[in-house]
Amino acid sequence: MGFLGFIKGFSSVYRAKPRIRAYPSFCQHGHCYIQCRTFSHFKDHDDSVLPVLIVGAGPVGLVLSILLTKLGIKCSVLEKGKSFSHHPQAHFINNRSMEVFHKLDGLAEEIQRSQPPVDLWRKFVYCTSLTGPVLGSVDHMQPQDFEKVVSPVCVAHFSQYKLIRLLLKKLEDLNFLICKPEGLNDEPFRGGELLMGHECVKINATGQSVNVTASHLKEGKYTERNISCNILVGTDGAASTIRKLAGIELRGEKDLQKLVSVHFLSRDLGQYLLNERPGMLFFIFNTEAIGVLVAHDLKQGEFVLQMPFYPPQQSLDDFSPETCKQLILKLVGQELSDIDVIDIKPWVMHAEVAEKFVSCDNRIILAGDAAHRFPPAGGFGMNTGIQDAHNLAWKIAAFVKGIAPSSILHTYETERRPIAIFNTALSVQNFRAAMAVPATLGLDPTIANSVHQTITDGIGSILPSGLQRAVLDGIFTIGRAQLSEFLLNEKNLLGSSRLAKLRRLFEEGKSLQLQFPAEDLGFRYLEGALIPDSDSVRAQVPPTGRRRDYIPSSDPGSRLPHMNVRMLSNSFSEACISTLDLLPGDKVEFLLFIAPLEKSYHLAVAALKVAEEFKVSVKVCILWPTDTVKGAETRSKTTLAPWENYIDVAEAKKSSNSFSWWSMCQMTDKGAILVRPDEHIAWRAKSSIDDDPILEMKRVFSAILKVNI
Ligand SMILES: Cc1cc2nc3c(=O)[nH]c(=O)nc-3n(C[C@H](O)[C@H](O)[C@H](O)COP(=O)(O)OP(=O)(O)OC[C@H]3O[C@@H](n4cnc5c(N)ncnc54)[C@H](O)[C@@H]3O)c2cc1C
Repeated sequence: MGFLGFIKGFSSVYRAKPRIRAYPSFCQHGHCYIQCRTFSHFKDHDDSVLPVLIVGAGPVGLVLSILLTKLGIKCSVLEKGKSFSHHPQAHFINNRSMEVFHKLDGLAEEIQRSQPPVDLWRKFVYCTSLTGPVLGSVDHMQPQDFEKVVSPVCVAHFSQYKLIRLLLKKLEDLNFLICKPEGLNDEPFRGGELLMGHECVKINATGQSVNVTASHLKEGKYTERNISCNILVGTDGAASTIRKLAGIELRGEKDLQKLVSVHFLSRDLGQYLLNERPGMLFFIFNTEAIGVLVAHDLKQGEFVLQMPFYPPQQSLDDFSPETCKQLILKLVGQELSDIDVIDIKPWVMHAEVAEKFVSCDNRIILAGDAAHRFPPAGGFGMNTGIQDAHNLAWKIAAFVKGIAPSSILHTYETERRPIAIFNTALSVQNFRAAMAVPATLGLDPTIANSVHQTITDGIGSILPSGLQRAVLDGIFTIGRAQLSEFLLNEKNLLGSSRLAKLRRLFEEGKSLQLQFPAEDLGFRYLEGALIPDSDSVRAQVPPTGRRRDYIPSSDPGSRLPHMNVRMLSNSFSEACISTLDLLPGDKVEFLLFIAPLEKSYHLAVAALKVAEEFKVSVKVCILWPTDTVKGAETRSKTTLAPWENYIDVAEAKKSSNSFSWWSMCQMTDKGAILVRPDEHIAWRAKSSIDDDPILEMKRVFSAILKVNI
């Protein structure tokens, strides 16, 4: 059922409850009408209403359900698929997502143990065939990527379907039930269920709840099930039904490129590449075929081949398993007997962000691909979605637990939408950088796309379809002739100049990049559930598309810098943990960093008192310099008594010339840093607070939590 079905559903409800006003602003695109009414606080009295319903069990929906469950929030998930896809799709997990996973009971470490060894995927290889000449290769790992100086965890290469398996296991460990439609009765859901084979087809927001209709196949018949929830989160992917039903438009560029994705296995190819030229991505250009091969796992011989797709002249029927096998062999450059094509899927690359992430009085929320869809260049899609879920989870928990009003949820859009827009621009730049290689080889993809456009919509459209196809094939064959060995060699003037240009492109980092530490760890929220410094609201630096190093920062909105610290309360342990690990992950708890100075202790006491008033937890972290820790615990105990929610830690510097904590944060030790449950900085004082610290902390918590005082 689509929009019409929904409108029908709405009409009958609307007639039944005429007193509730339908807000036209929500329905500006004419798709649907949803009834909205302001509700300021969460009411937990009605057992038949789920606090949170998540639609879509992709990586983003699953991560959100784990985060919420760990925070003690009841939620259920609807998934339209009866089983999970085995198409590998995403595979690069960036540093920040790995930090989120590190807090999910060691998921990051499980991924690190299960992924292929880094040496097998650190490079992108450019060649004329997988067994033929290499045009160049780029190593995307630098020594500092392994040193864990800026983060307690490293990036990873791990197929999306394997990640989904680990996420499901985590959910089961949290007592989530994964249910098939057949085994379900009509009992209302209590939270903790993942309903497979349930497609959300209708939503209807009334009063304080959102009623969701899910369609599922039972005993051969489609049956509808209604579920009421207080908050509905659409994590239902790039073609999001929730986004459409809520009438939210996408803004940006559509149809950047159409591709066909071929998932196949070949242990022989895996073994060959593992021994001869290991890598993650192989860009292959020859006179017979062009494609990008993603090596998901060389040991298992698992690959996905991406090839350009030009409908309507080409159709999916042109990519039968046998044709795909022949294309793979052309790209390999020699016979292989064990190619097993598993799946062939077309897909379209877009660069779009939803105009709203939060709708209907903060009750309908979009996250992941439902909110933004960008080119996979640089691997930002799933990573941005996982970080959406991380930003959202503690805010939903703060609302459901009565710590904050529903307006806290709106800060999710204020914070994450600019990041999505920024990452879209970065992905588009990366995509263009990827295109620079074929363009240097004389195969400008923008020309191919305009030729295709001219044939489809321009002068070529008058030709019969068979002829259009022949013209397109002919033009592409002539284009690929640029890649002949005769032309592309050092002895040929044009060939040698193209090869020299290509080398420069690789050396100068102007081809497709994999790692973006400055953006991945250095992204910052400029406004939202935080208090910007009054003196310095620095604008985000526009994306460069090149690798730049991350500079730790304590500017409000930034991710808390990582430093290893030693817990002083555990005098038997020399073990170090990251500053990021000081935030628990299973509690809506803020962390206040102070130095052991008198005024800072006063501020800490004020923060603990005010937090109690605001019904939110605050832990104080007293950060001692490495060499002056004698008597630390006694000092904190006597100064902070009777408060007990504090922790003494000492800097565990790697070497005597490493930065100290406060200088790394570009502050003095007279200041203080307040960190949110998602490890982003909510507020800082660059110097000691001379005014009444209680008043200051009240101002701070009310601004962050959006609570009026
Ligand atoms: C070739 C390729 C390579 C990529 N590589 C990377 C990478 O390396 N790193 C990276 O970060 N990203 C990458 N991406 C992007 C990444 O795959 C997506 O961003 C990611 O899958 C988004 O996750 P999601 O949970 O938001 O949505 P999805 O994974 O699309 O999941 C949505 C889920 O919702 C379900 N659903 C849909 N509609 C309904 C409904 N009405 N009711 C119930 N359920 C519904 C679907 O069945 C699906 O299970 C890549 C993408 C492609 C195409």
